[in-house]
Amino acid sequence: MKLDRLAPDLERLQADLHELSGLVEPDLDGWSRPVFSESYRAAREWVARKMADAGLQVHVDPVGNIVGTREGRGVRAALATGSHTDTVRGGGRFDGIVGVLAGIEVARRLRETGTVLEHDLRVVDFLGEEPNDHGVSCIGSRAVVGAISADYLAMPDGKGVALGERLDSRDDIAAARWASDEVAGFVELHVEQGPVLERDGLQLGVVTAIAGIERAVATFHGRPDHAGTMPMGERHDALLTAAEAVLAVEQIGCSAPDAVATVGRVESLPGALNIVPSWARVWSELRSASTPWLDRVRGDLTARIADVARARGVDVELDWLNDQPPVPTTRSVQDLIASSASSIGYSWRAMPSGAGHDAAHIASLAPTGMIFIPSQGGRSHCPEEWTDVEAIGVGTHTLAATLLAMDTAPFARQEEQ
Ligand SMILES: [Zn+2]
Repeated sequence: MKLDRLAPDLERLQADLHELSGLVEPDLDGWSRPVFSESYRAAREWVARKMADAGLQVHVDPVGNIVGTREGRGVRAALATGSHTDTVRGGGRFDGIVGVLAGIEVARRLRETGTVLEHDLRVVDFLGEEPNDHGVSCIGSRAVVGAISADYLAMPDGKGVALGERLDSRDDIAAARWASDEVAGFVELHVEQGPVLERDGLQLGVVTAIAGIERAVATFHGRPDHAGTMPMGERHDALLTAAEAVLAVEQIGCSAPDAVATVGRVESLPGALNIVPSWARVWSELRSASTPWLDRVRGDLTARIADVARARGVDVELDWLNDQPPVPTTRSVQDLIASSASSIGYSWRAMPSGAGHDAAHIASLAPTGMIFIPSQGGRSHCPEEWTDVEAIGVGTHTLAATLLAMDTAPFARQEEQ
């Protein structure tokens, strides 16, 4: 039957995974391919080549997204799928690339089975999904929905280089924007990055919503003093203030059942054993699918950090980086993913995503869905991240079936939540 014919070639998927995941920064731990790194450039060339080999027309848009198109019979709008190929530092082999490789494999299976869709199929490798040194995530998917502002492009990295300077293209980034009638729907396949599917013994997750994220950088300015002579009660220790801020972030993360909060990075200067730290910086992020909680969190954290800084006589600057409100996926697309999975015989459950994804941005433009496949032990953003190729095959097969269903079945943007 038709759906079985679209099943992916697992050996080919395995070989692709092996090649692409192996393009990493030699000097970094884990499977690291940060945006703008040499390995990332190599990976993107690899992706463009694989897309072309799959018969896709390959185009790099002004922000740097790689877009491969398979022409359909003539419906103007495209069905899009894709994900990202950058990783966090010290990351794993599957986060992101699974969704890009699956899109390419679907294109190959359509070609090999002589299946021509009514819509164009658009497979996208979105630029820089992970948070980077500029404090900006989802560069590519933000750009296609018109959500990259001049402020984002001006964000400096640690060396003072603006994000805009890192982009290959000096073209108008606004030209990367997709028109609202250009894309009929979007589906992203991704590893779950959590333990739920494995724990429940299920093959697939149908994502109902993507958690919102707030990110803040707190910079503390204390006073450098001799660590031997300045009494404890008379110090203005920036690092101790930062330590209290770290605990405040944790407490806020514990304040709601579905919320999480993390400090992933702390820096301090001058970094000498015999000098009281005069400068410290804390990078934090807070996530929840609850809009009311996220609405409160900025005020709560700002007040808590101001309190700890005041108590120690330390000045603080708090910068809120890109925020991302919770995003529901489109009900009709969820239904098509679920019915496609069921009709092949795959088990699934509905679930929210605690992780942010490119799909969260595309959802502002087009009906959007996400498919999760299990992550072994729930591990992700670490070298141990693992998903069996058979599971990736299940996800890829379901992606193909869903796109096929979207090509013919009526589905629409979900207007009310
Ligand atoms: Zn990802």
